[in-house]
Amino acid sequence: MSPDRSRLHIAIQKSGRLNDRSRQLLRDAGLKLSEAGRNQLTTRADNFPLDLMLVRDDDIPTFVADGVCELGIVGQNVLEEYALGQAAPRFEEVARLGFGSCALKIAAPESLDCFTLSMLAGQRIATSYPRLLQRFLVQEGIEAEIVTMRGAVELAPRLGIARFICDLVSTGATLEANGLAPVAEVFHSEAVLVRSLKPIDAAHAEKARALLMRIEGVIATAEAKYIVLNAPEAAISEISAILPGAEAPTVVPLVGRPGHFAVQAVCQESVFWETLERLKAAGASAILVMPIEKMML
Ligand code: ATP
Ligand code: ZN
Repeated sequence: MSPDRSRLHIAIQKSGRLNDRSRQLLRDAGLKLSEAGRNQLTTRADNFPLDLMLVRDDDIPTFVADGVCELGIVGQNVLEEYALGQAAPRFEEVARLGFGSCALKIAAPESLDCFTLSMLAGQRIATSYPRLLQRFLVQEGIEAEIVTMRGAVELAPRLGIARFICDLVSTGATLEANGLAPVAEVFHSEAVLVRSLKPIDAAHAEKARALLMRIEGVIATAEAKYIVLNAPEAAISEISAILPGAEAPTVVPLVGRPGHFAVQAVCQESVFWETLERLKAAGASAILVMPIEKMML
């Protein structure tokens, strides 16, 4: 079945670490998603002209580069590995999504007392990310042999395939369980939204723009809070400087309290208890911190 070209298409991971958060992001952007059956390749949004293509994460760069999907959600690690094998870029990153954070790291046997990068010279390093590793080794001026494996890279040293490995790490528990320790970071990654550079017609572009605006709104509201507080006039500039990630706050006079104002602001960064204590010390009172449900920038 060929894709319905009157609708937009977004490629997301079918199952795995990115699946839940990718769907959640689209739901937060107001899309009603039908549940996909296990063997289904696509599922649709009921209230937006968007089809989800559910694929292996490794296939997402190809789908987006070829324009089969106008958009995709994938880890920068997969994206960059793919891009390094291409002559010219065929997609662009449009937003960092704040999940799926991990790092591609070189790991050495725990039994090694000390480690320097020069110890990699002439050694075999097993990885599923040969291009990212190769770029790192060239940058560091190290000549080593890269052994490409599709999975279970952490087993390579035990199997005698390679002494070192280069693999994705978030907590380090898998490395530890295999007697390995991280020694160098090659690439840091998180999930991103990508857009195909293949030209699309104006109607499609308009739908894509509307969806991107909603997604940007979801990302912006993730940490954002609305703060309201009262303050004497003399304290307002100090208070404004403390408000985390706020643009110019709204300042309105309080009826019956000359010289006192209500200050209102959207804070784009986390508001901690320490922030409230600093605001209070600067002269603020009746401080309210409220979640923001939706935002369009
Ligand atoms: P697929 O079947 O889609 O090919 P996979 O096994 O390659 O799945 P997952 O393990 O689900 O992929 O990881 C998907 C992405 O999640 C990774 O490419 C990476 O961007 C991110 N990620 C976050 N933390 C980790 C981690 N600790 N290990 C591996 N990937 C991680
Ligand atoms: Zn994969």
